Formats: sequence, structure tokens, C-alpha cells
Amino acid sequence: MEGRRILRLEQRRADLRFPLPERFAERLANARIDRLARQAKFLAAHLSTGEVLVMHLGMSGRFTISGAMQGDFVHDAGGLAAHDHVVFHMEGGETVTYNDPRRFGFMELWPAASFEAYPRLMTMGPEPLSNGFSAAYLDKALAGKAAPIKAALLDQSIIAGLGNIYVCEALYRAGVSPKRLSRSVPGVRASRLAPAINAVIAEAIDAGGSSISDFAGTDGGLGYFQHRFDVYGREGEACKRCGAAVKRIVQSGRSTCYCATCQR
Ligand SMILES: [Zn+2]
Repeated sequence: MEGRRILRLEQRRADLRFPLPERFAERLANARIDRLARQAKFLAAHLSTGEVLVMHLGMSGRFTISGAMQGDFVHDAGGLAAHDHVVFHMEGGETVTYNDPRRFGFMELWPAASFEAYPRLMTMGPEPLSNGFSAAYLDKALAGKAAPIKAALLDQSIIAGLGNIYVCEALYRAGVSPKRLSRSVPGVRASRLAPAINAVIAEAIDAGGSSISDFAGTDGGLGYFQHRFDVYGREGEACKRCGAAVKRIVQSGRSTCYCATCQR
């Protein structure tokens, strides 16, 4: 999509999680996507019209690409056509379709000139694998915090873009209990946790993500990282390190799987 124009936007309903922007199709018609970027869990298409199209997949959103595009991306759309809500008809003949059965995703337009003040991104912490994220950063961010480390790592203002599964996997690799108070993590534990977070994210990206129920790549194909989980979804099974049974608890409404022997 980068460098190409959106010839026509086909909007099939008025809303996703939020109402779609006013005069959405009109504002996107003939706009060129100058730059397509990702920040945390947001996709940002910087348009030649001076606006940024912000897109979020929510729980079950996916983009599929089909049509005349050359290369590896020529595939059939993956989902049921009934859930195809927005279709980008691109310069060059291909279509990019947004499909979302549960409709927790959303799209918004925001002026490029004030994109730094876009409220949903303004309070985001640094991303894993970025220069701003390190053990030293964790030391500072977790100091004095009483919340369990599991909850702190899911807090997007501390680290951007980390989801439930990857937090569980990173805590397991680092040998840190999900119940441990955040303020007791700085020091030796943070020095294990930061590289563990980066390694889990890097390996998951290499494996094409994790397909638990809904996730699929732009080619409609599934990710494979779910086959490499060390603890997530392994409640009752033997810990790969010590053999003790993996436990499951619920923290802030989300499942946590961990080994009470290895993770302290
Ligand atoms: Zn263990």
C-alpha cells in the first residue's frame, strides 16, 4: 500500500468498535499512502491529504490482500465475506480487505500535524526491541509500583504492544513470578526480564505470530508461535525446566500460566 493511491474506499457499515470517520470514503478517495507504520498495536497510514489513517485490529480484525499485486501477497481473502467491512481498492488493481467478525477493531482519521497528540498513542511506553526499552528502563519504570509484575507488563504506558501471552512467556523465561510486586523486580530480575521480553517478541515475529483463535497474516495464513509456547495454555502439564505442574491463575481478568517452582 505504501506509495500507492487508494482509488476508492468501499465502506460496508457505519461503525466497527467506534463509528467510522465522517465522509470516510470521500476523505480517502485518491489519497496516496506516503508511509505505513506501526506503533504498539496501531497501524498508521500517513496520507498525502495531511491526515493519518489509524487502524487497530481489536480482537479478531485482519487485513487480507488480493488482486493483481506481484509477489508473495497474492492470496484469497481468509475470512467470511459477511465480515468484510472495509475494502481499499488500490491503484494497481489489488484490493485490501478489512475483515472483523467481532468488530472490536477501529479506524480513525487524525490530522498529521498533531499526530503526536493522538490520545490513544500519547501515553504509550517504549516498545520491546526499541532503543528506549532496556533493563535500566524497567528498573526506573517499575520502581515503587505495587501492582503485580504481570499487570505492570500489560500496562501499555509502561511497555507498548505487549499482550497477555507474551507477558506469560517472558516471565517464565526470566524465572520471575507473575505475582511478584513490581517494585521488587528492578535489579537482577529486571536484567533477566528485559532480554526475555525481547527474545519472545523477536521469535514470535519470526514465527508469523500466534494463531490462537482469530489471528491470521495478510496472506490469510496462520502464525506458528503457539506451537512454541513454554507455559501459556499448558496448565497441568509438566514444566519444561523442572517437571512441576504448570499452574493457571487469573490476574486482572486474564489467564496467567506459570511454574511456581521456577518462577520466583
Ligand atoms: Zn518449573
